[in-house]
Formats: sequence, structure tokens, C-alpha cells
Amino acid sequence: MEEYLQLFKNETVFYNQILLGSLLPENIWRSLPHVCRTWLRNYVAGVLIYSITGFLWCFYIYHLKRDVYIRGADPIPSKKTMVLHIKVTMRSLPWFAALPTFSEYAVERGWTKCFSRISEVGWFAYFVYIMAYIAVVEFLTYWAHRKLHDIKPLYKYLHAQHHSYNKQHKISPFAGLALHPLDGIAQGGPHEIAIFLVPTHFTTHLTVVFLGAIWSANIHDCIDEKMWPLMGGGYHVIHHLSNRHNYGLYTIWMDWMFGTLSHPVSNPTKPN
Ligand SMILES: [Zn+2]
Ligand SMILES: [Zn+2]
Repeated sequence: MEEYLQLFKNETVFYNQILLGSLLPENIWRSLPHVCRTWLRNYVAGVLIYSITGFLWCFYIYHLKRDVYIRGADPIPSKKTMVLHIKVTMRSLPWFAALPTFSEYAVERGWTKCFSRISEVGWFAYFVYIMAYIAVVEFLTYWAHRKLHDIKPLYKYLHAQHHSYNKQHKISPFAGLALHPLDGIAQGGPHEIAIFLVPTHFTTHLTVVFLGAIWSANIHDCIDEKMWPLMGGGYHVIHHLSNRHNYGLYTIWMDWMFGTLSHPVSNPTKPN
């Protein structure tokens, strides 16, 4: 068992050395305990992924392809709006970095159902487990998000901040992680909870966590991509405007199952 758990630790040590070693002077991180290095690496990775994704996404849709993605005279988010999104996110990112740090800590101690190598279960089981993992994340995120609306103090003190972006030109890809720290932890936590319930390939779990950060930019671009069953920006902007529909994260299935799905009007072939 000890030997097996060492495989996870070797992996996290490797990630810490690669990212921190290439970006920060050794005297900043070498003397830190392993768990602090892991947090620092997750924080730095979060800042990089958020900044690069947000910048490229905005540059692409608001400048390079503005005539494709922005209708006529529709206003786009101002610089001031995007700076506000970035400020709120930067305040919360240190807290968000605690989520994967916690899951890595738990994995290294053998508390979760994570496995280290795909060859241990085979490719078929690997894909079945990924599907189960995503389904659990979807289910829990949907209900966490819905309860953040239904329970009034949670909405008022945690989630209302994210819903202050309540017009299309007040939402940008930078708004994806612009959440109160506890709001983000409540909605991001299912990615970590799921590894206690579903056997999950450790590297894949970490990959999904960080892809989730990129996904959050996608669903805040307000563009109706029409890629069934994905929860695109066209769906999530309805959530920001109505406060009652489309609570899901990656797909529209949970909203469909629990009766809260509302399709973008630009997609009239599908019923509401
Ligand atoms: Zn909401
Ligand atoms: Zn949102």
C-alpha cells in the first residue's frame, strides 16, 4: 500500500518541480512543506490558466471575430467590467487553489478511490469511470448551485455577487471564476467529492479540475454554440438573466431531468 501511494506522491512532486521550478526562484518554494508547494503550484497554475484563457477568449470573440460572434450594435463588456471580474477572481483564487490541494492530499494518503495507472483497470473501465465521475460532478454541482439560489442567506451572502453580472454586456469569459470564495468552493467542491465515490484516474481528475476552469470561461462568453448536450454560453447567460434556469455546468442533462432547462431563443427547434 505504502509503495502504491508513493506513486501518487511521485506524481505531485513531479508537477510541483516542473511548474514551480520553471517559474519561481528556488528559495521561494524549496523550503516549503510538500502540501504548501502543492497549494502554490495549484495557485500559480490557476492564475496562469485563468489569465491566458480569459485573455485569448476575449481577444478572439471581441476583436478577431467580433463580426461573427457579436450581433450588430450589441455592446461588449467594457474594460472596466472585465477588470472587475479579474479583481474578484484574483481575490478568490488562493481559496480555489485549496480544492485540488485537498484532493491531492487525500489521494496521497489513500483516502479516495483514485488509481494511478490506466493499465490497472483497462481502457474500457477507465472510460466508464470517467463518465461516472462527470455524472457525479454534474449532479452535485447542479444541486449545490440550485441550493445557492434557493437558500436565501446563501444567495444573498455568497452567490449574489456572481449574479450582479446580470446583463449580457456585464458578463465576459473573465466572469467564469468571479465568485465569492465560498461560492466557488461550493460549486467546485463536487470535483473533489467525486473521487471519494468513483474510482478515478488521478491524472485525469486533476486534468478535469483545470479544464473546468477553462470551461467556466466558455459558459460566460454568452455565445450560443449549439453543441448538444453541452451547456454553452447561450444557456448560461439565460441563467444569469433569469436566476431560475440552467444551473448545470458541463451539460444540460441535469436541468432537463429536474425541469429547469431553458433553451436559447436563437435555437427555436428545441422546445423549452
Ligand atoms: Zn447562479
Ligand atoms: Zn455564471
